[in-house]
Amino acid sequence: MIEGKIVRVSGPLVVASSMRGARMYDVVNVSGKKLMGEIIELKDDLASIQVYEDTEGIGPGEPVYCTGFPLSVELGPGLIESIFDGTQRPLNVIRKMSGDNIARGISIPGLDREKKWDFKPTVKKGDEVEAGDILGEVKETSLITIKIMVPPDARGTVEDIKKGSFSVEETIAILRKGNQKKEIKLLQKWPVRVPRPFKKKLSPEAALVTGQRVIDTFFPVAKGGTACVPGPFGSGKTVIQHQLAKWANAEIIVYIGCGERGNEMTDVLLEFPELVDPRSGEPLMKRTVLIANTSNMPVAAREASVYTGITIAEYFRDMGMDVALMADSTSRWAEAMREISGRLEEMPGEEGYPAYLGARIASFYERAGRVVCLSSKKREGALSVIGAVSPPGGDLSDPVVQATLRVVKVFWSLEDKLAAMRHFPAISWLNSYSLYADFLENFFRENVDREFVKNERLAMNLLQNETELQEIVRLVGVDALSENDQLTLEVSRSIREDFLHQNAFHDVDTYTSLKKQFLLLKVILHFYEKTKGVLDSGVPISAIKSMKVRDRIARAKYIPEKELSKIEEIMKEIDGELASISKEEVKTEA
Ligand code: ADP
Repeated sequence: MIEGKIVRVSGPLVVASSMRGARMYDVVNVSGKKLMGEIIELKDDLASIQVYEDTEGIGPGEPVYCTGFPLSVELGPGLIESIFDGTQRPLNVIRKMSGDNIARGISIPGLDREKKWDFKPTVKKGDEVEAGDILGEVKETSLITIKIMVPPDARGTVEDIKKGSFSVEETIAILRKGNQKKEIKLLQKWPVRVPRPFKKKLSPEAALVTGQRVIDTFFPVAKGGTACVPGPFGSGKTVIQHQLAKWANAEIIVYIGCGERGNEMTDVLLEFPELVDPRSGEPLMKRTVLIANTSNMPVAAREASVYTGITIAEYFRDMGMDVALMADSTSRWAEAMREISGRLEEMPGEEGYPAYLGARIASFYERAGRVVCLSSKKREGALSVIGAVSPPGGDLSDPVVQATLRVVKVFWSLEDKLAAMRHFPAISWLNSYSLYADFLENFFRENVDREFVKNERLAMNLLQNETELQEIVRLVGVDALSENDQLTLEVSRSIREDFLHQNAFHDVDTYTSLKKQFLLLKVILHFYEKTKGVLDSGVPISAIKSMKVRDRIARAKYIPEKELSKIEEIMKEIDGELASISKEEVKTEA
């Protein structure tokens, strides 16, 4: 074992000498207190170490022990329902050991060593298996059954396969290749900074359906895609995240919290376990892994948590699952990078962030994707990544935001202005974008309706026109507008209030299927088309504004999913009311 000596301590950065032979990203134990750290720079025999625990009271001369292993996570049954810190220490176990003030130098494995899991094999003796092939299953929670896979570096003939109850370190299978034997356990390890391997990356094909109308219809994210959402305080970021976690059609949710203050994290730790999975009625935690930096861990630990989280997410993807990962907030992670970079005295880039900021952010989001998994049998998995950014003062020209926008394909612009007007979700329809629209056109055509995308574009055009018209109204008043333009304003308001507004706390409104989203928008556009027609034939805008059916349109979103035909009926009502208005007009003219 390599043993060095501390020569310098600067906050979370420790420099040690006599470290020749150590490798980049090896995990080290610092001082007799065994604080955990990771080597992030090597020069001659000097190693710079990013320490994931408080370095108070540590000084030059104390020893540093290199473990010779990179920072790794434990993958296997027991991940789901867990709450880990940034280096995968289970928080509830730590709390039991040391109370709320987590003592330093506690080393606990990520997965419980005692607990027994029921393993059901799906291969038999004599079968040939490759890396990634499934050996069997473990029902981990009432909602999730995980696959036990051949680790990426193994293959061979199944010499022995067991069935029954095992702890994560017990051998459940033996593979033989030539005269080499490999014991397979429920647990495998993987270095967090190395993306887990897959066969092939596929282009996005299906939407990650969230049931949130502004997202699915206007700014959809693909399964395996990436999205970014800024989070000004009070803009509804937490509600959006909870809605995504609850409703997105992903099987597993991985949530990484890099909170600034302790209480931000406490909120997550208290709120998430309370959430109920709406489809099963069970706690959402039964398909969730939470990673939370606790407030008494230094900023450097945020660096680790992002990688720990995405590696765990990749593991579930490799089983062929749909995984959604949320990271909140990546700005805090970037700040950690900046702090360490400053202490390493690296040449600073924009706003003091290191020059490699963009590359780090890109390589994180690149771990998202829809892939053909490693295996001899065909299996696909998807990992979608949604990152929150929290630029100081909400300034989107911030380097972290800019670096993120260069790599992600979707931007949901949460705006506090909209939240202040109680327009929820406060996602701006003018500043947001999705670059998946073209990829997903076929998906919407085949799974919802031929007209889905066309209608979305029509509606978006109306909303854009509305902004220009509002400018004019501000200058010269609404009466200066033509009746056609006044109709555009009316319909745009309807799109905003009757379609985009969505109440997360309303039983029905909280989730809208794609079919219903399509119908709701179709009704509004039908109203537009038909009223435009009668407007041209001389019916005044005032008569259209006071149509009774408009109230039905406004309430259509509260129609339950089982009664969608009622939404279609509204179109007939529109036609009926318009017919009688036109008759009235003819009469008064006569
Ligand atoms: P943030 O996390 O950005 O500080 P929250 O997500 O806690 O903000 O939202 C603040 C408040 O806004 C919520 O308590 C809720 O009243 C309201 N809100 C946000 N989104 C919605 C929504 N989709 N439907 C209804 N109310 C919402």
